[in-house]
Amino acid sequence: MSKLQFITVLGSTGTIGVNTLDVIARHPDRYRVYALTANSRIDPLLSQCRAFSPRYAVVLDDDAAEILRERLRSEGLETEVLCGPEALEQVSSATEVDAVMAAIVGAAGLKPALAAAQAGKRVLLANKETLVMSGSLFMDAVHKNGATLLPIDSEHNAIFQVMPPGFDRGLVASGVKRILLTASGGPFRRASHDELAKVTPSQALNHPNWVMGPKITIDSASLMNKGLEVIEAHWLFNASPDIIEVVIHPQSVIHSMVEYVDGSVLAQLGNPDMRTPIAYALAYPERIESGVGSLDLFKVGRLDFEPPDMIRFPCLKLAFEALRRGGTAPAILNAANEVAVQSFLEERIGFTDIPRLIEAALARVSVVEGRALAEVVDADRAARAAAQEWLEQRS
Ligand code: NDP
Ligand code: MG
Repeated sequence: MSKLQFITVLGSTGTIGVNTLDVIARHPDRYRVYALTANSRIDPLLSQCRAFSPRYAVVLDDDAAEILRERLRSEGLETEVLCGPEALEQVSSATEVDAVMAAIVGAAGLKPALAAAQAGKRVLLANKETLVMSGSLFMDAVHKNGATLLPIDSEHNAIFQVMPPGFDRGLVASGVKRILLTASGGPFRRASHDELAKVTPSQALNHPNWVMGPKITIDSASLMNKGLEVIEAHWLFNASPDIIEVVIHPQSVIHSMVEYVDGSVLAQLGNPDMRTPIAYALAYPERIESGVGSLDLFKVGRLDFEPPDMIRFPCLKLAFEALRRGGTAPAILNAANEVAVQSFLEERIGFTDIPRLIEAALARVSVVEGRALAEVVDADRAARAAAQEWLEQRS
């Protein structure tokens, strides 16, 4: 049995964070929680502190920190409360930490995930936005500092599971021909363009197969999630966009596939439950119980596949284009998408305006190489400003 592992869960109150703690709770002989972090929702964070007695709890807001501190004290709990973005980096890189689950949503997750990589940790990466914004920088930090990077995104976790050993010496040398990235197609797979224009946030938040946070749920409905995942796959597996193919698979039972030069196609299957990739990454290379039930193939009955429609779902096309353009183009795409999703949820724009806003930001902000963090941060800021400008011009 390996030694007890100390884990920091960034974004512990989110969907991935809660699932991570569910798996950790099943293995008290293996894992201890070092730190839990949230943005501002202290009620769930307090319950998690009661259950897992972390050394630290981090929130972003001063007022939330003070309330949490007081409540922990009144219950006699010893968890220390830290506050602010630097504290996120501190609990990601602390010497005592073995592994960091990076599950903050959006661009806010970049710096703490990078801090974990720079500190040579085992990084369980759910926050795909980190790789989209700063793929080359992040992968350099992983390699230079001897960090271990394990993908949590179910598709990338599946691909990782069916890749040959030593794939990082190059996919061609490893006999890999194609990566088949599956997508459920979301709730609007069959909707016409006119129907898409009238979609409401509550319809878009109703994903057919997965329970997820609001941002990724909207991204799944627009297929931007798959676009971000194409970029994520490029960086994780050093795969050219030409060999990454998106396959719509509405049942979400096959989580992705790898095709080899000899014609073999290897797939990873399972119930759509994030505890499988989380357990895999926590214990890798061992396997541990995750709480996920057996896949009932008789109940599934059939598996369907179809190509994606990039005309009805232009976000996917925009993501492929940004990846091919390179430099800070994906960071601009990501930031504009975050503004677009927020604006759609606030009912300021329609569903089909999401790609329009992103395209406008990509046209307005210049793309630079993006090898330094400052360039990535600037591109993110400039894209948000361009997106706001587009919103104001429209209203
Ligand atoms: P949620 O919205 O459910 O949770 C987000 C978490 O991040 C919460 O703990 C939230 O705190 C915290 N947070 C939000 N904003 C900030 C901020 N500015 N600074 C610090 N912390 C912040 O998201 P998910 O769990 O669904 O997704 C997390 C990440 O994992 C995303 O990048 C997503 O793309 C990725 N992912 C998710 C999957 C899923 O099935 N959910 C699948 C694959 C990838 P608070 O509760 O206080 O708001
Ligand atoms: Mg995914």
